[in-house]
Amino acid sequence: MNKLTIGNLINITNPINKTFGNFIPSNPCLTGLEKNDIIYSMNSVIQVLNNIPLLIGYFLNKKRMKQIYIQKENRPLSYKLLEIFKNLWSNEGKNKAFSSKDMSLYLLEMNPFFSGNESNPKELLYYIINLVHQELNKIENVTHYYINNIIKFNYKLCYEKVYNHYKNNYKSIISDIFYGFKNDTLTCTKCANTSHSINLYDIMIFPINEVRNYKNYPKNNISIEEFFEWNERKIELYNCKNYFCNFCNNYANGILATKLVSLPKVLILSFESSEEKDLEININFEEFINLRKYVFYDTNTYKYELIGVIKNVNKSNENKKYVAFCKSSANKMWYLYNDEIILKTQFKDVKETGIVNILIYNNYMINQ
Ligand SMILES: [Zn+2]
Repeated sequence: MNKLTIGNLINITNPINKTFGNFIPSNPCLTGLEKNDIIYSMNSVIQVLNNIPLLIGYFLNKKRMKQIYIQKENRPLSYKLLEIFKNLWSNEGKNKAFSSKDMSLYLLEMNPFFSGNESNPKELLYYIINLVHQELNKIENVTHYYINNIIKFNYKLCYEKVYNHYKNNYKSIISDIFYGFKNDTLTCTKCANTSHSINLYDIMIFPINEVRNYKNYPKNNISIEEFFEWNERKIELYNCKNYFCNFCNNYANGILATKLVSLPKVLILSFESSEEKDLEININFEEFINLRKYVFYDTNTYKYELIGVIKNVNKSNENKKYVAFCKSSANKMWYLYNDEIILKTQFKDVKETGIVNILIYNNYMINQ
C-alpha cells in the first residue's frame, strides 16, 4: 500500500480564473536601466522578466493594469513591477534609461540580504516571483489537502486530483507560468514500500559541484540534459533516526528520489557555484531543448526555447557583475542588456561570454 501526502499545497487561495493571453510585441524592448548600486543583480533580473511574453502580456493588459492600480496598497510589489514594465515599454525608442532604484529600495526594506554584491539573481527572482504570487492570490485560510483511502497508488488519479485542486485554489499568473509539479518518494529499505508526496516547485537549482562529480567522475563540460539526469538521482539515507516507516513500523534507512510530474511553461534553471573551480566548468546549453524524457506521467510537449540568460561577466566569485541576454519574441534576435547599454548580439556570444547563473526557457509548443 502506498500513501500520498501533499507537501507544499498548504496555502489555499482565491482563484483568479482567467486565461492569460500571450503577448507578442511588435518590436524588442530596448530600454536600458540605470546602473543600480543598491541591488547589483536587479537590472538583469528585470530585463529577463521583461522578455517573458506571458508575463508581459499579463501585466500590460489594460484591464489588469487598472485592477493592480486600484489595489496597489495590497499589491505593492506587483504595482512596482507593473510600473517598471510600463516604463520600459513606453520609453522604448526614446534613448532614455529608466531607474530600478525605487523597486530595489522597497525590496531591500523587506529583505536586507539583497544588498549590493550579496544579492544573487536566483534569490531575487525567487523572492519577486513568490511575493507577486501571494499578492495576486489573497490568502484567506490555510488548509492541508490530503488524498485518503488510496489502496493502490495510481498516478493518473492522484495527479489529476492534485492538479485540479491546484487549478481551482492556487492560481495566479505566477503559478500559471512558473510552477511545475514533482513527485518526491521515500522508499523504506526494510520493507521496500514507498511513500509519495506531490509538491510544487518553481526555480530548479543545480549545484555545479555536485553535478560535476555525479557518477564519480569529475566533468568540465556539463550539458543541460546531464543536470536533469542528476536531478533524478537516488539519495540514500543511512542511520537516519528521524525516518519512521509507517508501513513496517520501524525506524529505517530510506532512499529519496524525485521525479518531475510536469514542467512549467517558463522554466527557470539556476546554477550555483560553491568553489572557485566551479567557475571553470562549462555549462553547455543549447537554444532549443526537448525535456520530454525527464517528465514522468504528464503527456504535454516539453519543447523549450531559450529566451533569457543571466551571466556573471566578471569571472570571479568576489566581484560579480551580472548582465542579461534576452531573445526578443518580436524579432527573435539576441540582445545584451548591460545597465544603460544594450547591444545586438549572437547566440554564439550568449554561450561564450561570462559564467552562467540563470537560464530561462520558454515552452514554445504551449506558449504560442
Ligand atoms: Zn518500511
